[in-house]
Amino acid sequence: MRYLSTRGGVEPVGFAEAVMMGLGTDGGLLVPERIPTLSADTLTGWSQLSFQPLAVEILTLFVGDSIPRADLVGLVERSYSTFFHPEVTPLAEHGDRQWLELFHGPTAAFKDVALQLLGHVFEYLLAREGGVLRIVGATSGDTGSAAIYGVRGKAGIEIFILHPKGRVSPIQERQMTTVLDANVHNIAVQGTFDDAQRIVKTLFNDLPFKQQYRLGAVNSINLARILAQTIYYFYAWGRISGGDLRRRVSFSVPTGNFGDVFAGWLAKRMGLPIDRLIVATNRNAILSRFVETGVYRAGEVYHTLSPAMDIQLASNFERYLYYLLDEDPAAVRALLAEMEQTGQLQVDGERQRRVAEDFDARAVSDAETLAEIRRVYRTSGYLLCPHTAVGACAAADTTDAVVLATAHPAKFDAAVVKAIGIAPPPPPPLQGLLERETRCVELPAEAEAVSRFMRETLDTSAREHP
Ligand SMILES: *Cc1c(COP(=O)(O)O)cnc(C)c1O
Repeated sequence: MRYLSTRGGVEPVGFAEAVMMGLGTDGGLLVPERIPTLSADTLTGWSQLSFQPLAVEILTLFVGDSIPRADLVGLVERSYSTFFHPEVTPLAEHGDRQWLELFHGPTAAFKDVALQLLGHVFEYLLAREGGVLRIVGATSGDTGSAAIYGVRGKAGIEIFILHPKGRVSPIQERQMTTVLDANVHNIAVQGTFDDAQRIVKTLFNDLPFKQQYRLGAVNSINLARILAQTIYYFYAWGRISGGDLRRRVSFSVPTGNFGDVFAGWLAKRMGLPIDRLIVATNRNAILSRFVETGVYRAGEVYHTLSPAMDIQLASNFERYLYYLLDEDPAAVRALLAEMEQTGQLQVDGERQRRVAEDFDARAVSDAETLAEIRRVYRTSGYLLCPHTAVGACAAADTTDAVVLATAHPAKFDAAVVKAIGIAPPPPPPLQGLLERETRCVELPAEAEAVSRFMRETLDTSAREHP
């Protein structure tokens, strides 16, 4: 399998190169040359597999001969051995609804499903092909800890994560700073999340620095993350249908960067019998507005009770746009130019109909989110994180839709307390966090200070491990 850019400016590359590239060198996103389609027999056969063997089968379609099967089996085994549930992503039934629990990984949110695998794939490819990777990123909470857990202790990788000092929740801060592995560097910036993000941008724009130190991003646009996220759609369908192809399943997906729901769309294109895919957003409703109107227009970012979805421009949207425009990179470039010039893009009526066939959408307010946490708790005793509650509320009229439970409620306990007055008990990965030793440097909100710290750290580690 080879990979192309949505903007048409990358020579086709293999899986290994595509994963290491992350963002396409032309600024586009990498997509498979062809989406594989599965026969009825294959789908029925796979419906009996447990998570890890199923992951190997799905990934093999995309990895091709880039990674020998025996090695892929090992990577998958190691990646999901850190999960606290034997089924990795189990389905749970509470109050007449099925919940796909994606929060049993080491940071208690669904990003672990992809980032645990990505960390192992990076380490494997670096060991095989030589080289080092220095990951730099800014986080407002969720992605930083999942990325740190993905690469902690991995050979050939150093990770620098900037967070705004005192502005992430105490749990999220501790999840990052209690990781003491030598290759993990937490930086508390004396400023806001926007300051932290601006610093990271400045570092990446300093090309000599970027090239000398081989900086890479940890972002939600890496192709491997999307592929890993298709696995649990197949897994959930298998458990529900028992392999009966007439049984179509709907999913409601709490959405921010459009990664998770795009993975569901990809699974459907591969032939998985999915009925409806619901794009569930909070008040930051750019994607639900697009599904309803065909117009994609960014506005200001609102802070909500579901902060991991407080996003305006969704970084994975361009992948969907590429398929909507019949895999025509020139058309993608034209629409993106329109967006650049006018602040919005619009698809024609016929394409808008196709969007409506692909997705349902609904934007959910904070008040509705709290009411949903309360309702589900009162009727079934099940506790939802605010992101999951957005998904459930958006699926109010689709009672048989499986809701993706994207984080453990204890990770966002303030919202849960606000809804029902009770704090959820922490799951194993969140226990004892506040008592553990921490390591973090505090720096002024200046790119210069951060790059100096990075140079010193990397030069020292190069002397010690030449
Ligand atoms: C990242 C995240 C989301 C949004 O997922 P996207 O792939 O960005 O659409 C939803 N819920 C939680 C808890 C998250 O961390």
